[in-house]
Amino acid sequence: MESTPQKLEMFYEGKAKKLYSTSDPDLVIAYFKDDATAFDGAKRGTIESKGAMNNRMSELFFTLLEKSGVKTHFVRRLSDREMLCKRLQIIPVETVVRNLVAGSMAKRLGREEGEPLPHPIVEYYYKSDALHDPMILGQHAIAFGWATAAELEQIDTLALKVDGILSKFLDQRGVTLVDFKLEFGRHHGEILLGDEICPDTCRFWDKATRQKLDKDRFRRDLGGVEEAYHEMLRRVES
Ligand code: 5GP
Repeated sequence: MESTPQKLEMFYEGKAKKLYSTSDPDLVIAYFKDDATAFDGAKRGTIESKGAMNNRMSELFFTLLEKSGVKTHFVRRLSDREMLCKRLQIIPVETVVRNLVAGSMAKRLGREEGEPLPHPIVEYYYKSDALHDPMILGQHAIAFGWATAAELEQIDTLALKVDGILSKFLDQRGVTLVDFKLEFGRHHGEILLGDEICPDTCRFWDKATRQKLDKDRFRRDLGGVEEAYHEMLRRVES
């Protein structure tokens, strides 16, 4: 096993994670918190053991994706709540892939949640808490210098590849991947998948019952939040 770089100062604290620099300038340590927020921080709470569950689930998904040729920032899990990652220059564009209508798409377009889409749809949002992550076109990202046209093309291809891999893997475990959000960043001239992949960032529905197994249980006060995260982890580990 390679030696672990020394954990140095915290340089970023987000809603769900803290990032620490390390003695290796190319590597950072992500610390996964139990804090949960929704609606731009208007709703706050904690989900017991969420940090540890999201760290482990992200490890499993990143490992699966790496095996299938998707390059990610994941290096290895260091502890219950810590993950060693490659340092990224984050592209301030959130990429959402949708297989079924849900969430903001259902609201914005007046469609029924659960309506299947004929093919996956990729959307972009500008990563800005102050502006509440507005939906944007790729053209906006290019015009304002957030990403180049070539980077967006790569992001689109990668997002759809991730969708295919995760949808198949989850389907075999009785879970429908409804939609999810990805973040990408630059590392030595390459685009890598960053952030985390977990029930905070994806909608997971039980295939048979359509029971929600994700953060919507917290956002919509449905109860059984911790249980849903545990159930998802159990299925992904199986
Ligand atoms: P929606 O646009 O319907 O709210 O979200 C679509 C998908 O992306 C959902 O799976 C949701 O969890 C994820 N998503 C979108 N924006 C964010 C965000 O700012 N934070 C997190 N954790 N997930 C997001």
